[in-house]
Parts: sequence; C-alpha cells; structure tokens
Amino acid sequence: MKTALVTGANKGIGFAIAYGLGAAGFRVGVGARDDARRSGAVDALRAGGVEAFGVALDVTSDDSAAAAARFLEAEAGGLDVLVNNAGIGGRTDGGAQDPTTLHLDALRTVLETNVFGVVRVTNAMLPLLYRSTAPRIVNMSSDMGSLTLQTGPQMAAYAPSKTMLNSMTAQYARRLADTKVIVNAGCPGLVATDFTGHTGERTPDQGAQVAVRLATLPDDGPRGGFFNEAGPVPW
Ligand code: NAP
Repeated sequence: MKTALVTGANKGIGFAIAYGLGAAGFRVGVGARDDARRSGAVDALRAGGVEAFGVALDVTSDDSAAAAARFLEAEAGGLDVLVNNAGIGGRTDGGAQDPTTLHLDALRTVLETNVFGVVRVTNAMLPLLYRSTAPRIVNMSSDMGSLTLQTGPQMAAYAPSKTMLNSMTAQYARRLADTKVIVNAGCPGLVATDFTGHTGERTPDQGAQVAVRLATLPDDGPRGGFFNEAGPVPW
C-alpha cells in the first residue's frame, strides 16, 4: 500500500485531500500541528474508511519536519506522495496587506509557512520519496499568485507567497527532471473553508480534486506545471 502525507490535513481542503487519497487506496499521514485537531481528523477519516494515521508536523519548524520524516520512515517505511497543503492567509488588519502599508512581519509570517514551510518539509521528505516507485509532490497554490490573472482580493503578503511557491515548484521540477519525482502546483479554486470565512462557492472535496489528480499522475504525467481542475492555470 502506498503512503501519502498531507500537511495541514486536520481541516478544510487538506482534510478533503486526505480523504480523497484514502479513497484512491493510499494510507494517509495526517500532518497537523495540534494534537487534538490531528487525532480528531484521524478518527473522522478512519470512520470514513480511510487508513489514516497522525503525523505531528508544524511546517514552520525544522525539528518538527525532521521528526516527521523519521516517524514516517518508522511508521510506514517510506513515502510515495507529499501534498504541501498547509497555508495561511496572514493578518489583514490595519493595512497589513495593503502594499503601501505592508507589515513586513505579516509578510515574513506568511512566507515562513507558505514558502519556507514547503521547502523545509519537501527537503525533509525527499530522501523517503526518492525510494518510491512513483513519487509525487503537490504544492497547493492559488490563482491569486498568478501574475497573469492578478485575481482575487489584494493581499500583498499572501498572493506573492503563492507566486513564489509557483516559482519554487518550477525550481524543484527542473532539479528533479531526471528522477521519478514529479512535482506540480495545484489551485483548488475559491473553496468554503475557515480560510475564506466559508465564502467560497466550491466545497473542500471539489477543491481537493486537483491535488488528488496531481498526486496520482502516471509516470509520463506533466512536470513543473500549475493546474486547476479544468487544466493549466497561467503563471
Ligand atoms: P484552512 O481551512 O485554513 O486550513 C489550513 C490548514 O493548514 C489547517 O489544517 C492548518 O492547521 C494548517 N496549517 C497552517 N499553518 C500550519 C503550520 N505551521 N503547520 C502545520 N499546519 C499548518 O485553509 P484551506 O482553505 O483548507 O487552504 C488549504 C490550502 O489551499 C492553503 O495552502 C491555501 O492557501 C490554499 N488555497 C485555498 C483556497 C480557498 O479558497 N480556501 C484558495 C486557493 C488556495 P491549524 O488548524 O492547526 O491552523
């Protein structure tokens, strides 16, 4: 049985991705930083028939990422799919994400999770992924990071964090071009979660679909792209 790790899987789109990967036949590691929220999600997934297990993981901590990799090695013997889903919008009060009054601490905080967190967790997990027969990495991005579309509310910390995540996705794909590791970025669309104050029209299950597809690409699937459910998203 193949093993997947989904970061930020205790709720929202990450939980739905965990469910979707479980339905696709994966054993799913529920990456979450809070013990109670993590075990609640594991219980809910198991009740839904998913072979889920908890992985303590705060993506902002080097030690936590390293410990999670050691745990996966011991618990599952390896890793086949990594979905970097954990993300934050960052504070918006007091013009914190108006570019003309941007709070640099807000920018740093968002980058620490949405970009540095992805690099930290990916690099901790790559030694396990290299041993898989069909390793896949999915970075959950947003069309708000598209320089072409320039869409959604103006959020001058969050949107550039996803632009950088897209660029980082391309960097990994180039570096891993001669390996079995396939890396892509996905956009879930506007989804009703805590993140959006439940304003999105799409359900978490709908938002999760692109991630499940990119996590289960065939060996000749696309590399280094940015996709939503309908196809490529412009950078
Ligand atoms: P959400 O409901 O707020 O869930 C975010 C998840 O990330 C939670 O499980 C949260 O855990 C986790 N997380 C945050 N910081 C973390 C950290 N340092 N370590 C580990 N986990 C952490 O958001 P969502 O709507 O499901 O969004 C999931 C992803 O999709 C994000 O990357 C987001 O940018 C992207 N996205 C969402 C939308 C949308 O419309 N919702 C649109 C485009 C892209 P806690 O419960 O512990 O906080």
